[in-house]
Amino acid sequence: MRAEVIAIGDELTTGARLDTNSQWLSAELAVLGIPVIFHTTATDTLEAGAEAFRIAAGRADVVVATGGLGPTADDLTRDVLAAVACQPLELSAEALVVVESRFARRGMAMPETNRRQALFPRGSRVIPNPDGTAPGLDVDLPRPDGGGSRVFALPGVPAEMQLMWRQTVVPALLAMQPERGTIVQRRIKCFGAGESAIEQMLPDLVRRGREPLVGITAHEATITLRIAARGRDEAACRALIAADEVTIRGCLGPLVYGVEDDEVEDAAIRAARAAGLSLASAEIGTQGRVAALLAQADARGGGRVFRGGRVLAPDAPDDPTSSAVRARHDAGADLGLAIGPPQTDAEGKTTLDIVLASAAGVERVTHRLGGGASLALSRAAKTAVDLVRRSLLATRSPQVSHPTEAV
Ligand code: AMP
Ligand code: MG
Repeated sequence: MRAEVIAIGDELTTGARLDTNSQWLSAELAVLGIPVIFHTTATDTLEAGAEAFRIAAGRADVVVATGGLGPTADDLTRDVLAAVACQPLELSAEALVVVESRFARRGMAMPETNRRQALFPRGSRVIPNPDGTAPGLDVDLPRPDGGGSRVFALPGVPAEMQLMWRQTVVPALLAMQPERGTIVQRRIKCFGAGESAIEQMLPDLVRRGREPLVGITAHEATITLRIAARGRDEAACRALIAADEVTIRGCLGPLVYGVEDDEVEDAAIRAARAAGLSLASAEIGTQGRVAALLAQADARGGGRVFRGGRVLAPDAPDDPTSSAVRARHDAGADLGLAIGPPQTDAEGKTTLDIVLASAAGVERVTHRLGGGASLALSRAAKTAVDLVRRSLLATRSPQVSHPTEAV
């Protein structure tokens, strides 16, 4: 089974926006063991869309397309697919109810233009969109050789597209090759070392063709290891994943902070909550990023751990140690986290001092900023937040690794 990925939108062909959907989908298809043989990008015209789908259907068994499913006149994917499938567009009463109810829930009447989103070429299937108004389409396109190509058309908005992919498209693709069993994935999240350093710490795990397949990706200094196991059923896959997870955790130790959608700040808040500790922050060099991360993670985790954060002016006279102690004291929190102003070290590099104050004293680390301006601050904020997790892990671990000594 071979796949083609189509990206539709003027914003892509003009270069106004980078086509990240094709990259994401291709990595996903690889995990399923379905090679991608072509990427096509087309503008928002009927002619370009029809040509792209006709060619793709002629050379691929599966076509996954994104974009062009919105309610406006330039969203033509459903018209294109109807034309290429030689089928009329029909109103799906079921899809219309779903589109209307999304507006109704927000107390709005559905604009007439959105009716278009309930039109489907005859014989096609609806791909539900739990996060948006545009449902996707699952259509069979005929091939000149008498065979057929299955097309999954999804909206362009990455978050909606990814959810629909996981919920509907992946199960459909697995069902197309029942003899190949099922696939289960697990993501292990790491922070504190670079992608290549982490790869080197893992004994021959990240390798093409390995079963289970382990992939590594980096985003703003967070490293994700994705284990994809194929087996006859879910239990068999989970057993394979568990074995690899044990190996990964053994090799990487405290670099692993969580799994799946966990962010470093979720792990930090979780560690504080588990220890029964509250936290406050004061920052200069990270410009409010630390407070935002902690507030958001605390809200996701149920609240009450983060007691507030101050964003200080760049010329605030405080040393970060005093700021951390004061943040803790002023908020009545157990832990005070402070990030100092940018400084220049002996090698001319910009650094930020990060301090964590607790009842036990203060812990101070110097973080060297690297990468582009906004990436560097995001990384620094994550490093600061991760100090909370690491510090709590260190105070807890003697009892964990030597239970007899705790007696
Ligand atoms: P559409 O479904 O064409 O209305 O797309 C909605 C939005 O999704 C666009 O305005 C883009 O911001 C985004 N988008 C569309 N296609 C892509 C793509 N291939 N990669 C990343 N973002 C996209
Ligand atoms: Mg578009």
